[in-house]
Amino acid sequence: MPVQPQRGLRWIETYVPGKPIEEVQREYGLEDVVKLASNENPLGPSPKAAAAIAAALPNLNRYPDGQSYYLRRALAARLGLDMEYITVGNGADGLIMQTCMAYLDEGDVAVVSRSSFPVYDIYVHAMRGTLVKTPLRDFRLDLPAMAHRAAQGAKLVFVCNPNNPTGTIVTADEVEEFMAQVPDEVLVVFDEAYHEFVDAPDYPDGLGYVREGRPNVLVLRTLSKVYGLAGVRLGYAVGRPEVIAPLRKIKEPFAVNYLAQVAGVAALDDEEFLRRYVALNRQEREYLYGEFARLGLRYVPSHTNFILVEVGPQAAEVQERLLAQGVIVRPCGGYDLPDFLRVSVGSHAQNARFTAALERVLTGTDG
Ligand SMILES: *Cc1c(COP(=O)(O)O)cnc(C)c1O
Repeated sequence: MPVQPQRGLRWIETYVPGKPIEEVQREYGLEDVVKLASNENPLGPSPKAAAAIAAALPNLNRYPDGQSYYLRRALAARLGLDMEYITVGNGADGLIMQTCMAYLDEGDVAVVSRSSFPVYDIYVHAMRGTLVKTPLRDFRLDLPAMAHRAAQGAKLVFVCNPNNPTGTIVTADEVEEFMAQVPDEVLVVFDEAYHEFVDAPDYPDGLGYVREGRPNVLVLRTLSKVYGLAGVRLGYAVGRPEVIAPLRKIKEPFAVNYLAQVAGVAALDDEEFLRRYVALNRQEREYLYGEFARLGLRYVPSHTNFILVEVGPQAAEVQERLLAQGVIVRPCGGYDLPDFLRVSVGSHAQNARFTAALERVLTGTDG
């Protein structure tokens, strides 16, 4: 009998990330490859963060500060909260893992939406929790259904807002109603990985619930997306100190490495970079909408730096044929949306390259 992994792993489907550029270059013998599969910043990293990392290299022999003091202090100042309200992690992914470890006992129910971020599923199963999925409604989270299920004895609810991979939001009024129905003993996790991109006036700020003293709210954010630091791995969680303390208790002692800490402090001071990217993203999203309309493709209007576009039952094949032309996008079969692709909004040149390749595939002129 070979050694057996713990039972929760039977339910886990291994996370498939966007294909790395080098892999596509290798497999297809291509030089010029465009990746629009992982919602990365097309402007590169925050220049201030990159400079801070370069300056920090001589200190790599030292362990990082396990409490990430300066980083948490910078976040606290920015958010106008006490440092005890904040913990940092190895990406928001690492914080999702810590949240599940800190709050789920075997058999506890966690409510998520279908067609949402798959990392929740992995760690709920890893803790041998019970995953309950509610369907989407018009590509949006069905908050009334999630609240209903949460009130029947759940422990955790993940509200991905905006939702990945649909790019849609739930509104402040909807969240208010949801919060009124969810019992205090259910932890509500607002995953706000894309909040900086949203300009809808009715977008709720999960931090408002933390500020007003809600005992059951945790907000997750990341520096991977808008600050262009996906390769560094840095996210943060905000909640009342009693909610945060269990996450800190089970954290890896040095989960946030030294380079991530200095990069994070510098990036938070790089407002100009953030604004430039958000403006570019808004403009290029409109360009892609126009191109999709021209090609007769239905898409879901997005509040983020990616767009869900419907290409039909042959979507997986379209994605393969785009790869052969050096364009990496995300197939959505694993998100229960097999007719769709998720494409990140890139630079104008990248987006134009993508739409030209897509047009060739759709018209059969790519071979
Ligand atoms: C990208 C993403 C994350 C993870 O961010 P990292 O900080 O890179 O781990 C979390 N949630 C959602 C919805 C995301 O799209």
